[in-house]
Amino acid sequence: MSLDKAIFTRKIKDKAIELGFAGVGISKAERLDLAAERLQNWLDKGFHGEMGYMANHFEKRVDPTLLVDGAKSVISLMYNYHSEDKQIDKSAPKISKYARGKDYHFILKDRLKTLFNFIHEEITPITGRVFTDSAPVLERDWAVRSGLGWRGKHTLMVNPKKGSYFFLAELIIDLELEYDSAMKDYCGTCTRCIDVCPTDAIDPNGYEMDGSKCISYLTIELKGDIPTKFEGKMDNWMFGCDACQDVCPWNRFSTPHQEPEFLPHPDLLKMTKDDWNNLTQERFSELFKKSPVKRTKYSGLKRNIEFLG
Ligand code: SF4
Ligand code: SF4
Repeated sequence: MSLDKAIFTRKIKDKAIELGFAGVGISKAERLDLAAERLQNWLDKGFHGEMGYMANHFEKRVDPTLLVDGAKSVISLMYNYHSEDKQIDKSAPKISKYARGKDYHFILKDRLKTLFNFIHEEITPITGRVFTDSAPVLERDWAVRSGLGWRGKHTLMVNPKKGSYFFLAELIIDLELEYDSAMKDYCGTCTRCIDVCPTDAIDPNGYEMDGSKCISYLTIELKGDIPTKFEGKMDNWMFGCDACQDVCPWNRFSTPHQEPEFLPHPDLLKMTKDDWNNLTQERFSELFKKSPVKRTKYSGLKRNIEFLG
């Protein structure tokens, strides 16, 4: 059986890389006690803001065996979205790299299903589920536990050879596999992400982030008005924010993604500040067809642009 486990594990990892994932690591499916404590603490401080869903299904969120019947293994996967393309007008409101192309949920889901079917049909019959930001799963904690990187001071996962611009996804299945170990933290004395954060959302000692102050939350999750205390502090971000990742020294190892679906609409990076200020519903629909930006709808993006002034 242990020989089977090793062979199955190797085959799954090879297939994941063949499907375009940048990394794959595997953990035993069990309750994440430390992460549960940290999540509870974070919720108690109100750092989730209006993201009430973060408090829902708490036990399922911290224990995959309650989420997926018979769960034995969590297979964590990384998918690169890094791009070196820049918006041409430096005064144009900024859009996070991850949101420039088609919504990653669709793209990753197809690949996850392919990997799931490969295991089921070509290795051994399994049951389980695939996830990508789609259910209460502590994706970052699983990826860290599976040795794909460490939890940086900005709280995102950093890989020492590839940086941090990755979407994360998981398969939770009822098959025992060989498990990886977490790696060391290589942040050292660096504080660049903490120092650059425009809204001081990251704790001065790192490793904790007040989600309710993060520009990603303010521009995407928050439904009402952006509080006036953030006026002049948004660093010109209109959808998401990459500031803490852009300064991370480990992102010098990032390489551009090879996913055609993540390419932006040809006009997106050419849009000037004036173009954004005069954005119409029609233009919004053209630029952001199947994009994650649709989440805020036209009215939300307009709110963000107007807030930047
Ligand atoms: S994404 Fe931006 S606002 Fe959020 S923690 Fe990072 S630097 Fe701060
Ligand atoms: S910027 Fe520095 S402190 Fe922040 S995650 Fe990267 S290495 Fe760690």
